[in-house]
Amino acid sequence: MDSHDTAFLAWHFEPVLSVAAALLAALACYVALDLSHRLAGERLRASAPWLAGAALVLGTGLWSVHFLALAGRPLNLPVGYGGALTLAGWTLGVLFSAFALHGAFAGGTRPGRRVAAALALAAAVVAGPALYVSDMRLAPAPQWQPLLPALAALGVFVLCLACGALLAGARGADWRWRAAAAGLGGAGLAAAQHAVVLAAQVPEGAVSLHEHGWLADTTLALLAGVATPALCVTLLALSIMESRMRRALRAAIERIEESSRTDALTRLPNRRSFEARLNAAARHAAQSPSAMAVLFVGLDQFKPVNDSFGRRIGDLLLQAVAQRLRVAAGPRALLARVGGDEFVLLLGPEAGRSESAAMAQKLLEALAEPFEIEKRTLSLGASIGVVLYPRDGSLTTAMANAEAASHYAKRNGGSTFAFFEPRMLGDAREQVELLRDLRHAVAKNQLELVYQPKVHAPTGEIMGVEALLRWHHPQRGMVSPAAFIPLAERHGLIVTLGQWVIEEACRQARVWRDQGLRMRVAINLSVHQLRQPDLAGRIAAALKRHQINPNLLTCEITESAAMEDAEGTRAIFEKLAAVGVHLSIDDFGTGFCNFAMLRKMPAEELKIDRSFVLDLEASADARAVVDAVVKLGQALGRKVVAEGVETEGQAQVLRALGCDVLQGYLYAKPMSAKALALWAMNDVGPRAIEFSASLFQETQPVPVH
Ligand code: C2E
Ligand code: CA
Ligand code: CA
Repeated sequence: MDSHDTAFLAWHFEPVLSVAAALLAALACYVALDLSHRLAGERLRASAPWLAGAALVLGTGLWSVHFLALAGRPLNLPVGYGGALTLAGWTLGVLFSAFALHGAFAGGTRPGRRVAAALALAAAVVAGPALYVSDMRLAPAPQWQPLLPALAALGVFVLCLACGALLAGARGADWRWRAAAAGLGGAGLAAAQHAVVLAAQVPEGAVSLHEHGWLADTTLALLAGVATPALCVTLLALSIMESRMRRALRAAIERIEESSRTDALTRLPNRRSFEARLNAAARHAAQSPSAMAVLFVGLDQFKPVNDSFGRRIGDLLLQAVAQRLRVAAGPRALLARVGGDEFVLLLGPEAGRSESAAMAQKLLEALAEPFEIEKRTLSLGASIGVVLYPRDGSLTTAMANAEAASHYAKRNGGSTFAFFEPRMLGDAREQVELLRDLRHAVAKNQLELVYQPKVHAPTGEIMGVEALLRWHHPQRGMVSPAAFIPLAERHGLIVTLGQWVIEEACRQARVWRDQGLRMRVAINLSVHQLRQPDLAGRIAAALKRHQINPNLLTCEITESAAMEDAEGTRAIFEKLAAVGVHLSIDDFGTGFCNFAMLRKMPAEELKIDRSFVLDLEASADARAVVDAVVKLGQALGRKVVAEGVETEGQAQVLRALGCDVLQGYLYAKPMSAKALALWAMNDVGPRAIEFSASLFQETQPVPVH
């Protein structure tokens, strides 16, 4: 039959159904895109379920568009379907969708895969409607116009590439871009399928041979309008749930990773993370050398705070310290917490000696102000070791070297910084050995107390002695307390040593007493001992054991230790005063003197620090300080003692200023108990000094004339 003689039926699509079909197509596209973005960078085996879901939803979506649009019977002709070709069209749609989605999403950015994907979808869009229309078995058969399907295929091809461009890069992960692409794609696919259908020229009077078959157009329209949206919504819900779970999982992993990199207490990077950054910096520096510095910050006096006030206060203090260090270090330096009371700072690039010194000074200043933690005033210092790169060797040893320098700074009194020098490494090794030996010093009887007289300034008579600890090391000989007391304090040995000192001083006082010498003895207490709740009890017990009158014992406590926790110190001072011992504030003028507290402290004595005495003859400032301390002592009714008096000139100034008691090499160096007793009894001493008559009271035999 000649086509020119034939009249054809006109297709009349219902606009509402067409729009519904386009919306369904957009929904299916969106869900397919949503599921498919999981394919990126994954192996097919791992992502196969997602690909299957996406292909199913897109293929079914395309299939539904057709049957939904045809629900309005655009040919005004009752039709039915054979089923086989419809099934083939659906299968083809699903398979081609799978190919297209895999190519577009799992194929990375390779353009060939994208083009193949677009071609596959174009083929599915043209083949599907052709098969469905064929499945109606129209008789006479429709004549197909090639132009419209060709245009539709071209349109779909271009559209697919456009959607691919729309979702390129990070945009693919954003649901809004996916929605935009789905809207565009859905409308385009629906229009293309319509166009293919329009290409079928159905002769007038044609009938569908499957009209009364098992698969009515209404059944398929129902499936398309109900089952497909249900499928879309189900898969979308699944996808959303999975995305949420994935996000929650990723957040949990990030938290764990983050906590393995940061210190939980201060939120600063931890040692591991710092070392990783340091290694990275080292690698970088190997290529483009630049000056860097590592500052190791060890806190002084942190352990006693922790021991005496408990972990909680200690933790709060560390947080406050971290905060101050963070502010002082600034945003460009890398600050980390690498140990209980240890922090490190990486400075660079272009951090030379002067920059590092300035930074160390800044950090020290940041910590100098006392901390207010839960109404307590706590003071801390820091010892900072500085390593310069490349001057001091490789960055990999920088941490250890900086730590050695920090220990060196601490041994030199703390609250200072030191640049690393190779000899400090030996020091660190030596410290370990020294500590090992110190643990046995008490048991091995290697400790001794030596005694240095305290002289009454106006009369020059000996008023009492200060007991100073000595360690006779089997190999090293005499080790200075300045070397081993800080070590003992750092490693928790000081309480044992301190207890030995209390016991030994009382025992010696008893021995002298039995020899007829009523000697006043002063002992030094470490800040760690002050934090012992039973310190007063222990001292009282020792005094009782040796039957020593408590007012013969003086406890010297450094000003910085006393003011570290002024309230706590006051409580312990009151307990000690209740025992009846005298109290003396040692190294006065070097710590943070809180005048209000000082007033309330039941201390009898202020001991001006040696540094002021040393400068007395040369420096007007030192004289002014001593003068002020004497005036303060007088105002508060406290005795003022000057220690470290080495010259007659110093003694004169001190006397003129009104000091009550003098102590120093000018009068006597610390001496053994025996030497002191001999001097007292037989007047064989370093200088012709009288022992105060009061020392012999009760026991001195009445001179017989
Ligand atoms: P400190 O309590 O300030 O003791 C005074 C130090 O100055 C002693 O040093 C003493 O020998 C020294 N000294 C005395 N007169 C002079 C002088 O005229 N010139 C100079 N240059 N120095 C003088 P030492 O015995 O080496 O003790 C050093 C520090 O070790 C003491 O300083 C004290 O803080 C601590 N220490 C000593 N014995 C004990 C102890 O039994 N327990 C505790 N916790 N600390 C102790
Ligand atoms: Ca002292
Ligand atoms: Ca002192």
